[in-house]
Amino acid sequence: MSQILKTEAIVLSKINYGDTSIIVNLFTKEKGRLTAIVKGARSPKSKMGSIVDPLNYLSVIIYNKDTRDVQLISGADIIAHYPRIKEDYDKLQYAYAVLELTKSLIPDHETNERLFKGIVRILELYNSSNNHSGILFGRFFLFFLEVIGYEFQIDKCYSCGEIDLQQKDLAYNFDLGILCSNCKNEHIQSFFLDAELFHLFFCLKHNEKIENMKVETINKALGYLEKYLRYHVPDFKGLSSLQLFK
Ligand SMILES: [Zn+2]
Repeated sequence: MSQILKTEAIVLSKINYGDTSIIVNLFTKEKGRLTAIVKGARSPKSKMGSIVDPLNYLSVIIYNKDTRDVQLISGADIIAHYPRIKEDYDKLQYAYAVLELTKSLIPDHETNERLFKGIVRILELYNSSNNHSGILFGRFFLFFLEVIGYEFQIDKCYSCGEIDLQQKDLAYNFDLGILCSNCKNEHIQSFFLDAELFHLFFCLKHNEKIENMKVETINKALGYLEKYLRYHVPDFKGLSSLQLFK
């Protein structure tokens, strides 16, 4: 079935195609992730060439045919283009990591409005706030894991159910979740958490204010989240946008 579809979309990536066209990967509100061509986008007359660009939040008109691998974009308008992200290399790296997670882990044509809203929200935050980029990304990463069905479990000890986990030597098992100091030796330990790292994960997950956190601790937390995702999704090779995980 073919249809003319008007929907909101975030541009995830773009490549040149032929002499004047581009092919983009979009995450759309109504049709999920899809690949589409903008014919003639690189010709000097085209207005769409600069509009259909990675990171931009657009209203697009797509000539969609479910049997086709590449859809056709026939119109596009900017809803937001996040200039403050594009002029700040640190923000840009993390914003690209958001796009990369979506492109790598969300299957084609799977509608997910909650994730769509989450991506728009994180891009708005990167554009408007001066919060630490890694902290914002950590909050998004935990949200993303939950949305794709791999919630990062830190609310109670997997083994005994203890919920008071502050100030203890904890461990994490990628299959089971968090383990308290009494139970950790009964299970395989994927990594250890000291009180500071636990506090950070807790605040990220529960959207609590984070102050005076060491950058190394933030990077360590993000590195563990990436390892956790790679453990559960072996096809995921890690985030090339962020050098800190290498
Ligand atoms: Zn326990």
